[in-house]
Amino acid sequence: MTTYRKLDKIGRITIPKEFREKLELFRGDFFEVFEKDGDIIFRKSTDRCIFCKTSINVFNVLGKPVCKVCRGEIRGDFDSA
Ligand SMILES: [Zn+2]
Repeated sequence: MTTYRKLDKIGRITIPKEFREKLELFRGDFFEVFEKDGDIIFRKSTDRCIFCKTSINVFNVLGKPVCKVCRGEIRGDFDSA
């Protein structure tokens, strides 16, 4: 699938809806953005918290992705038990 998009005045490009649906991209998703051989590559950050689905500050906890906020809440639950 090839499409053309125009860069706006502050450097944004809209990712076509077809791509967003096919690749399951959602508002708030984070991307690794890098240049390679003259191409700009956007790679979706794949680790999402198993509880709240964020991809921000996600760590491996016993083999599962858990974000900093949820990890803190889990610790709080153990502290108050
Ligand atoms: Zn979380």
